[in-house]
Amino acid sequence: LGGSISRALKRMSDATVVDDKALADCLNEITRALLQADVRFAAVRDLQNNIRRLVNLEALAAGTNKRKIIQQAVFCELCSMLDPGKPSFVPAKGKPSVVMFVGLQGSGKTTTCTKYAYHHRRKGFNPALVCADTFRAGAFDQLKQNATKARIPFYGSYNESDPVKIAVEGVDRFRKENYDLIIVDTSGRHKQEAALFEEMRQVSEATKPDLVIFVMDGSIGQAAFDQAQAFKQSASVGAVIVTKMDGHAKGGGALSAVAATKSPVIFIGTGEHIDEFEVFDVKPFVNRLLGMGDLSGLVNKIKDVMPADQQPELVQKLTAGTFTLRLLYEMFQNLQNMGPLGQLFSMFPGFGGGLITKGKEKEGQAKIKRYMTIMDSMTDAELDSTNPKLMNESRIIRIARGSGRLVKDVTEMLEEYKRIAKMWSKLKLNNKNVRDHQIIN
Ligand code: GDP
Ligand code: MG
Repeated sequence: LGGSISRALKRMSDATVVDDKALADCLNEITRALLQADVRFAAVRDLQNNIRRLVNLEALAAGTNKRKIIQQAVFCELCSMLDPGKPSFVPAKGKPSVVMFVGLQGSGKTTTCTKYAYHHRRKGFNPALVCADTFRAGAFDQLKQNATKARIPFYGSYNESDPVKIAVEGVDRFRKENYDLIIVDTSGRHKQEAALFEEMRQVSEATKPDLVIFVMDGSIGQAAFDQAQAFKQSASVGAVIVTKMDGHAKGGGALSAVAATKSPVIFIGTGEHIDEFEVFDVKPFVNRLLGMGDLSGLVNKIKDVMPADQQPELVQKLTAGTFTLRLLYEMFQNLQNMGPLGQLFSMFPGFGGGLITKGKEKEGQAKIKRYMTIMDSMTDAELDSTNPKLMNESRIIRIARGSGRLVKDVTEMLEEYKRIAKMWSKLKLNNKNVRDHQIIN
């Protein structure tokens, strides 16, 4: 997707004359790419019309950077498509809220329930989980296992087959025990679809959730609209979570879910682990949709903002070899200064959600500073190592001592590094030929 959009834009900016045909060709190419990213046809058509309206041919002809003008128009349009215009319900600490999860089997509901609970507990909530999936064998065991690992109280039954009964019992019990975030996991499959939606309607009616979250697999594509709409009709969906964004999916289906439910995306899932969960941020998401969050986009942007004599070294580091701790250190340095490069890195997947969160830039900066202090106590060999096993216990203890931090701080930093390095390596897979391609042009 990113490739074909940048190609279309490049051709556009190379064109000496921008006429209707050049613009139409460019828009067609963007259309094809967005459809491939699972953006719904009706949405792409609207987007195309809006861009036509927004982009003024005369301005394009006179303007120096046609590519940028169109790119910005596409970007803004996609952002506004992800904004339903009203925020979702936000639970408040100390005040009981019930949040019900819906979505097809396999979409990631049970995993996401625990991630959601864990995320809120770290913020000071008192969450509890209720398993109202009585359909799938092993559903309760799965939730129990996840909950136990995360030390979150749970409720469920091996014998009871009525999901409504269990949901009500669980919610009542946790209400009495003063939990402030009661999360109800539901079933996703039935012998008949109609029965599933009827069950969702009943569970929702009986537990009166403050918020119903629709969970969708980021790769479901064109089916997202109908699915989301069907759930919306049975339980009034108020928010969307998109899972499996660590894979190859661009998540274009999210636009459909937002359109169908008129609700915002609030989180994305980026892995199977409980920590692999990010607050949804529209800009990096759209960047990814457009392929701008990937390495080629980043490399291109670096070229725009960085003095030419410093480019080759950094570009080479970014595209070659492994993501070392030293490279992370250098990115941190840039983030600290928050110059143009820092802003770029903060848009990069992996940095956005975990480190620098919108509205929490101060905390993010403090964390980065702490990490850098820790890295200052590492040896060159450690910073340049490509061997993940190098960081053994004795090294970690030495680094903690040297930097005056706790062992747990060092471990946390290394975990963060691993998380970012993992995302990075996934990007690289999609960008095998980026170096040859980018440096030449
Ligand atoms: P449910 O049937 O809707 O409850 O879905 P589950 O929570 O059981 O998840 C189905 C599968 O998707 C499991 O193997 C999960 O580990 C996996 N999964 C869930 N969320 C994510 C995610 O964000 N990334 C990846 N890679 N896997 C996920
Ligand atoms: Mg489940």
